[in-house]
Amino acid sequence: MAKRIIIAGGNIAGTIVANRLAQKLDEELNKGEVEIVVLNKSEEHVYLPGQLLMAFGLETPGELVRKERSLLDRRIKFLHGDAGTMTKIDVENRQVITADGKPHKYDYLVISTGVEYTWEEVPGYKEASLTPYEFDSALKMREALENFQGGTVVINVAKLPHRCPVAPIETTLMLDDYLRKRGLREKTRIVYTYPVEGVFARPITNKMMKGIFEQRGIEVHSPFNVTSVNPNEKIIESQEGEKIKFDMLIAVPPNQGAKVIGDSGIGDRRRWVPTDKLTLRMKNHSDVYVIGDATDLPVSKAGSTADFESYVVANNLANDIKGNLGVKHYGGDVLCYIATGTDQATYIRFSYTMNESPPPPSYIHWWGKVMYNKMYWTVTAKANI
Ligand SMILES: Cc1cc2nc3c(=O)[nH]c(=O)nc-3n(C[C@H](O)[C@H](O)[C@H](O)COP(=O)(O)OP(=O)(O)OC[C@H]3O[C@@H](n4cnc5c(N)ncnc54)[C@H](O)[C@@H]3O)c2cc1C
Repeated sequence: MAKRIIIAGGNIAGTIVANRLAQKLDEELNKGEVEIVVLNKSEEHVYLPGQLLMAFGLETPGELVRKERSLLDRRIKFLHGDAGTMTKIDVENRQVITADGKPHKYDYLVISTGVEYTWEEVPGYKEASLTPYEFDSALKMREALENFQGGTVVINVAKLPHRCPVAPIETTLMLDDYLRKRGLREKTRIVYTYPVEGVFARPITNKMMKGIFEQRGIEVHSPFNVTSVNPNEKIIESQEGEKIKFDMLIAVPPNQGAKVIGDSGIGDRRRWVPTDKLTLRMKNHSDVYVIGDATDLPVSKAGSTADFESYVVANNLANDIKGNLGVKHYGGDVLCYIATGTDQATYIRFSYTMNESPPPPSYIHWWGKVMYNKMYWTVTAKANI
């Protein structure tokens, strides 16, 4: 009987790890000794990092979406729609149930279900805001910015942790630059609100970015923990007792693990899956790995994190099957480009043991960010590196 590996969730982490596994288990796949199945809600694969650029008119919607099937090694089985939507992940009985009622038995499971936004945690929030975090809203944001003629823009981060921790900083600095180029900066008050003291949770980056915010005349209100938004009066309120009136609200919604993680009883209070920080195995389940935004690890929820983790998960899982590859450890590696305008950027590279050392913003790093995005479809997603 072929050993079956189920990848629970497609898109970024699931696709990269599935392709990397296919490379590691090339012979076994060809001989029919191993089967890899990717389960995903949607047939489409969306490159989420591009949504931020799209919101500023720097990417088109068509550049951000591909068919998931077209990105996977042809030997990998792909199920979507009811056949791919998981309603239960049953780690005790080594099976996943899909919305068509079918049980899928597995020998090994990789959980890559990402995050879900729980807008309902803040009354009025969704109705009142635009966000680069959702595809349709990013398109609306582009239109709203094109029509914007000045006023108060509030950028609010509802809760930590959230996907792409640097994206709110990028949104703010890109907005500042975008408005300067359109001659609207003098007519606009930009207010950045963040749930903990400062503008970012890592001290070195926080210090650098706080300096840039100050130079650019961006107001910082922190800690600011949003409790509600009045969409009619356009007022955002915080637990700290502040009320800010806005003309445009750009939101980073609360993030939790996927609903299926909660429904299956395998996550913590916010549905993050308990994960060994080195081997990336689910705690207490040696036949289950966790990758990408779904983990409870103290690292950034970023596509680059998923990419770094994919080497470890693919190696360790292939080693479980072949027994001759040794065990690799994940070092907590993360790489994030940070746009500081619409044509300049810096980057941070850090790990469990190494702090970041961001270089001064420049066009070269902006170019690096753009190239990283462009290479996603042919290099990163296909695990060609
Ligand atoms: C605006 C924005 C900018 C970003 N910028 C960057 C950047 O510059 N650099 C960077 O590295 N990262 C960036 N990121 C973060 C990056 O996109 C995520 O960290 C990455 O997508 C995580 O991959 P993932 O596979 O874990 O989650 P996802 O890509 O969200 O994939 C999870 C998949 O699981 C599926 N799924 C969930 N539940 C079920 C179910 N019950 N049944 C079937 N399928 C299910 C989902 O539908 C989805 O397809 C950005 C994100 C955003 C939103």
